[in-house]
Amino acid sequence: NAPLLVIDNLSKYFNTAAGQLHAVDGVSFTLEEGKTLGIVGESGCGKSTTGRCILKLIEPTSGKIIFQGNDITKLSRKEMRPLRQKMQMVFQDPFSSLDPRETVMQLISEPIIEHKLIKGREAIEERTLELMRTVGLAERYANVYPHELDGGRRQRIGIARALAMNPKIIVCDEPVSALDVSIQAQILNLLKQLQKDLGLTYIFITHDLSVVKYFSDDIAVMYMGTMVEKAPANLLFKNP
Ligand code: ADP
Ligand code: ADP
Repeated sequence: NAPLLVIDNLSKYFNTAAGQLHAVDGVSFTLEEGKTLGIVGESGCGKSTTGRCILKLIEPTSGKIIFQGNDITKLSRKEMRPLRQKMQMVFQDPFSSLDPRETVMQLISEPIIEHKLIKGREAIEERTLELMRTVGLAERYANVYPHELDGGRRQRIGIARALAMNPKIIVCDEPVSALDVSIQAQILNLLKQLQKDLGLTYIFITHDLSVVKYFSDDIAVMYMGTMVEKAPANLLFKNP
């Protein structure tokens, strides 16, 4: 079985006032379908930039990103569209990217409408309510605004928006770092359950080792733009 994702020698350099910054410098790894790769490392080591490059939210400087057998670095935006839908991202604070004037229902149905995934008002509403159930948002929240909800429920909206696209892989970039510890566990459990139910593949970016230990099959450690170590979680954290 070919891996779902192959990252080969990925680099992203930024030109800054202080010169060229090697934010990501020759990162390589493979990821099998249904597995989780945790990426850990101190702030600024290049985790987020790696995740953004893989989804081509930013253009990598060099390297290959082979998703389902296609090198997506060679594809135009238009050619990439059907593949791009299969690769979604969940961010630390979905609120910063959610339109405060839209209700939960509108926020979750937006990607369905925008990408014409389903046609017909009723079918879209049905799918939206199904997605709310999937992420554990009670129907009574359908017509509320995100600022009326706690961080955990807002993150559930972000996850529902990602799931709307029927993704194969989700890059979770510090998805629980902004949440209270008690709510962190709820969101982690949800992500884990979704992986089991939907066969999702995750790249799980965090600075928090205890989170990644719970979550990952393999763990990669980044340091100043490079991957300095990669090993199965059960080898990195051997219980006596
Ligand atoms: P992490 O996610 O591990 O905290 P990032 O990937 O966000 O690290 O950042 C890696 C490095 O690249 C940091 O030094 C950051 O300041 C820099 N960086 C990230 N995005 C940009 C950008 N758009 N322009 C310039 N430098 C950037
Ligand atoms: P995150 O780690 O979640 O990306 P940041 O505050 O590092 O949060 O980045 C927010 C945005 O600013 C991102 O789009 C990132 O690419 C960009 N960015 C980060 N660092 C720099 C930088 N040194 N110069 C310019 N843009 C940056």
